[in-house]
Amino acid sequence: SEGRAMRTIVENPENCESGGSRILVFVRLRPMAKKEKEAGSRTCVKIVNRKDVYLTEFASETDYLRLKRLRGRHFCFDAAFSDSTTQQEVYATTTTELVEGVLQGRNGSVFCYGATGAGKTYTMLGTVENPGVMVLAIKDLFSKIRQRSYDGNHLVHLSYLEVYNETVRDLLSPGRPLVLREDKQGIVAAGLTQYRAYSTDEVMSLLQQGNQNRTTEPTRANETSSRSHAILQVVAEFQIIESGKIVNRVGKLSLIDLAGSERALATDQRSQRSIEGANINRSLLALSSCINALVEGKKHIPYRNSKLTQLLKDSLGGPCNTVMIANISPCNLSFGETQNTLHWADRAKEIKTKGYVINDEAFQVPDSTTDQAKLVLELQKEN
Ligand code: ADP
Ligand code: MG
Repeated sequence: SEGRAMRTIVENPENCESGGSRILVFVRLRPMAKKEKEAGSRTCVKIVNRKDVYLTEFASETDYLRLKRLRGRHFCFDAAFSDSTTQQEVYATTTTELVEGVLQGRNGSVFCYGATGAGKTYTMLGTVENPGVMVLAIKDLFSKIRQRSYDGNHLVHLSYLEVYNETVRDLLSPGRPLVLREDKQGIVAAGLTQYRAYSTDEVMSLLQQGNQNRTTEPTRANETSSRSHAILQVVAEFQIIESGKIVNRVGKLSLIDLAGSERALATDQRSQRSIEGANINRSLLALSSCINALVEGKKHIPYRNSKLTQLLKDSLGGPCNTVMIANISPCNLSFGETQNTLHWADRAKEIKTKGYVINDEAFQVPDSTTDQAKLVLELQKEN
């Protein structure tokens, strides 16, 4: 697959509303868990009009109307999904357009952001009964490619990797950490498995297995909290006939289940956890720094500050379609985390993207110096 890194920026894409000009930001509220109900937890989030989110620290359902004007913090997103929204609805609203873009040769990416337990993995991977965005996207890709490929042939390659403690690992073939290299295609993890998928059926178990390889160690705050960022990359390639010629189409979709956004350092100051926490924060902080730099329209975006942002360099704010899904819990005990997540998501709405990339001509963004000193300062503030 030589010469596949050839790309062009299209500054004024025709259908801007599908995400060519800025990041689309969605919020998904998960249902209250049985345990939380039994413990008498109250709901602190209310979703109205499919896009407005009200956050109030102590409102009960009946207090909501009375309090929202007085106490409720109001946020508005491209869409906000209530706790009864199905996986299919979430997929259709957030990701079908990106899959369409991938079929036309534009890269796309979907991020899930939020605290541990807020529903990121449910949204991305889901369950066998209720598959999430990762599986539904691949299913959609397969069926659309089969319709459009002129000879019925296609290549769909999957790579699944994690960034844990500033180390990159292959989730489909666990082993030694992978080294990041910069080549014509951008930053790649050397030796990463490219699994050729033939049908949707095999994908769920493959990804579930991959997820079991994710590093999830017990912490005091949450026994199963996920400490790693998981990135699924789907590369789809097929041929169509255009103006009497066979044209190759290739696009990449990245689906990212970020590590819990809560302050990891609060859980244990004394052990390995705190180093790990600093590194988790490092990646998420670096992601936030990149977002801030993109929002402010800075020339230099500090992608090199973490492994996560290096890997996402071609998927964030740059010339691609980007979607953020902020996952939140309804539980009043998670009020602080929910508020942080909503603020973060609110900020992400401001990111302007440069337009689409069409995979047909040479294009490379040079990355200049690192922003290490600034990151260290931010880390000190954070901790
Ligand atoms: P995270 O990955 O953000 O730590 P999970 O996706 O593991 O959180 O969700 C925590 C728990 O809540 C899981 O048991 C999950 O099945 C459940 N859950 C999350 N979102 C939903 C939802 N929309 N509908 C039903 N159950 C959900
Ligand atoms: Mg998870």
